Amino acid sequence: MTNNKKMYGNKFLGAHVSAAGGVDQAPMRAREIGANAFALFTKNQRQWNAKPLEEKTIRAFKANCQMLGFSSDQILPHDSYLINLGAPEEEKLEKSRAAFIDEMKRCEQLGLTLLNFHPGSHLKKIAEDECLSRIAESINIAHQAVPKVIAVIENTAGQGSNLGWRFEHIAAIIEQVEDKSRVGVCIDTCHTFAAGYDLSSMQACEETFAEFDRVVGMQYLRAMHINDSKVELGSRVDRHHSLGSGEIGWDCFEYISRDPRFDGMPLVLETIDPDKWKDEIHWMRQHHLLALEQE
Ligand SMILES: [Zn+2]
Ligand SMILES: [Zn+2]
Repeated sequence: MTNNKKMYGNKFLGAHVSAAGGVDQAPMRAREIGANAFALFTKNQRQWNAKPLEEKTIRAFKANCQMLGFSSDQILPHDSYLINLGAPEEEKLEKSRAAFIDEMKRCEQLGLTLLNFHPGSHLKKIAEDECLSRIAESINIAHQAVPKVIAVIENTAGQGSNLGWRFEHIAAIIEQVEDKSRVGVCIDTCHTFAAGYDLSSMQACEETFAEFDRVVGMQYLRAMHINDSKVELGSRVDRHHSLGSGEIGWDCFEYISRDPRFDGMPLVLETIDPDKWKDEIHWMRQHHLLALEQE
C-alpha cells in the first residue's frame, strides 16, 4: 500500500517514531502520520544493555511492515547515543564495538538492512585522523560479525569533539572501510547547516550537494534526516527545528522534495514537534508530486 506510486511518487518520507511498547508498534505510528518511511531505535537509546528481541516481537514487526507496505529500504534504524566507535580509551572502544555489533544483529533479526549511527568523538584525547581510523576499523569489525547490514554514517553538527561534520571526515572513514558496498551516508540537513554548509537557498543547496558529491560521492547517500535548524550557519551546535521555522527555511526542503537524487531512500523527520509531522510529510510529498507532474 505504501509503495503506491500514484499516491507517494518516488519519495520515502517519514519521521523517527516511538518504539514504546515494542518495535512492532513503530510501523503503525508511521502509518498514522501518512509516512511511507520511518526511523526507530531497536532498543533504549540511552542504555548500554538491552534484552534480546523476542521471537514474537520480531514476527509482529515483520508482519506489520508487510501489511503496511514498508520494505527494508524504507526503514532507518538508529543506534544508541552511548556508542563511540572512535573512542580513545580501549575499554570504551571495546564496549562500543560490542554494542554496535548487537545493534547490527538486531537489524538483521528484524530483516532490516540500514543502520544509522553517529561516527564518533575523539574527546580531545587522540588526533582526528586516529579517531577516524578507529571508526573505520569498528565498521570493518562489525561487517565481519554481521552479514548484509549497511553501516550508514550520519554527518554531525560538529558539536564538542564529534567528528563527521566535515565531508572530508566521512570520506576518510569510507576510504578505510574494506567492504564499500556496506557503507553509506545519512545527511542530516540541520547538522550540515550547523557544520557550515549553507542550505538556505536553492543555489546554496546546489553547491553544498555538489561539494558532497565531489568529496564523498553521491553514490554513498543512503538516507537523509530532514530538519530545520534553530541555530545559524556554522554554529556547530545541534538544535533541530520544525520545517520552515528555523534558519534553513523552506527552499531546502522543496529542493530535496523535487530532486530525484533523493528518491528511493528514507527521508526522515526528526523535527521538534511531532504534531506537525503529518503536515511536514504532506508538504514535502505535495512538492514532490508537483515536480513529477511538471517533468
Ligand atoms: Zn539526525
Ligand atoms: Zn541532530
